[in-house]
Amino acid sequence: MEHNMVFNFEHTYQSLPTAFYKKVMPSAALTPSLVLFNHALAHELGVDVSKCSNEQLVELFSGKRIFENASPIAQAYAGHQFGGFTNLGDGRAVLLGEHRTPDEHIVDVQLKGAGTTPYSRNGDGKATVSAMLREYIISEAMHFLGIATSRSLAVCTSGDTVWREEGYPGALLTRIASSHIRVGTFEYAAHVQGKEALQALLTYTINRHYPELSKADTPALALLKKVMDKQINLICDWMRVGFIHGVMNTDNMSIAGETIDYGPCAFMNSYHPGTVFSSIDRNARYAFGKQPEIALWNLSRFAETLLPLIDADSKLSIEKAKEVLGTFSKQFNDAWLNIMAKKIGIANRHKEDEALIQELLQLLQQHQADYTNTFAQLGGAQLNEPIFEQTEFIAWIAKWHNRIGASEMLPEESLALMRKNNPLYIPRNHLVEEVLQQAQENDDLTKTNELLKVLQQPYKYNKLQLNYVNVPSDFDASYQTFCGT
Ligand code: AMP
Ligand code: MG
Repeated sequence: MEHNMVFNFEHTYQSLPTAFYKKVMPSAALTPSLVLFNHALAHELGVDVSKCSNEQLVELFSGKRIFENASPIAQAYAGHQFGGFTNLGDGRAVLLGEHRTPDEHIVDVQLKGAGTTPYSRNGDGKATVSAMLREYIISEAMHFLGIATSRSLAVCTSGDTVWREEGYPGALLTRIASSHIRVGTFEYAAHVQGKEALQALLTYTINRHYPELSKADTPALALLKKVMDKQINLICDWMRVGFIHGVMNTDNMSIAGETIDYGPCAFMNSYHPGTVFSSIDRNARYAFGKQPEIALWNLSRFAETLLPLIDADSKLSIEKAKEVLGTFSKQFNDAWLNIMAKKIGIANRHKEDEALIQELLQLLQQHQADYTNTFAQLGGAQLNEPIFEQTEFIAWIAKWHNRIGASEMLPEESLALMRKNNPLYIPRNHLVEEVLQQAQENDDLTKTNELLKVLQQPYKYNKLQLNYVNVPSDFDASYQTFCGT
């Protein structure tokens, strides 16, 4: 018997004015097969696929067959890409619907790589298996690192060839997110549609994500502040684990504060704030250390869209928005210092700790030390990182021991704090590439599944697996990541 209602779908996004989306059917995958299915996530979401045959799963999660209660749309948005405004929209993704979970949350279920849409411009609407597996691996890793992110439910190959500089096997990813409302969605409403559409989007967003703000004196201003708080937390978390998003265009910044759009992202090995891996980021706009500044730039674009809803007097509107954005730098710096303090085992930061943290980062940069491994070794992992033999570093350790010794925390509390904030296992670039190569060239998911398993316990200090921790010294110099693959 057909079992095809695995999601509890609603379609609230379609209550917005029709300019916000276009109904579109995913193009049929030719000869799909299921490569990965995230049963744990399905369980968390209350998605029961136990009655589906494997064949049904393949057809449903490849878009070959449409879930009966789905109502696929592509969402319209705009965005500043590398600083320039562009009209965009889902060019290769369709929203199948919003699934209501057993705990009454609604989440977007999106099929990425599902063919062209009215927003595809010159693109083919497709995705390669290696890019979709990469998104699956990195987004799941982020989740287990404790960082707000979209999740990955399934990857199917399409049977199609996707042409980039050469032909690659095509695939589709089913991704789950709190929503796909972006700063760019507000830019689309404000700059392309107008005040009525903007008000509708504001109301929808507040109802969906932050219902408590509907009672605020000025909901638009309250939303700006809320999104700023969310972005600050998110970027601090990225900085904590060495994550470089790679393409922080405003269309890739989620209003719900999740990491979305895993394209050219990567993890930093050697500490350097200027680290960039994305092939198209020639001016290092989205370098590791620039992410806070860019978050503020994106929030400023967000604030601009909200101006008509903040105050009828445009001058006052600007003043009010500026007042909120004016607090970003201090708030970010405080949040970041708190996180960095935790990374060295300090829960209640003192003023002098900033110097200790900055000195450590300078030493890391100077000695090109591995960011993750240095902090993991401070947290007791036996890694023999070379920086631990450097005289200046030994001197820093002595200062640090003094600070920890004088702290109100017990040594074991400090250690536990570090081990909660300093991952031992991250999706290292060379590991990700290695598993993707095996998957793409030999259709072999063994290494992918092994890596996924390790990444599910990034803070597991009691069993060291050195092959997931050691980094080949020459790898990063030539490592590049790509968009739209
Ligand atoms: P991204 O850099 O992945 O955030 O993508 C920017 C825009 O390009 C979005 O509107 C995407 O939907 C669109 N896009 C990326 N790749 C493709 C593709 N292969 N076909 C159609 N649209 C695409
Ligand atoms: Mg995008």
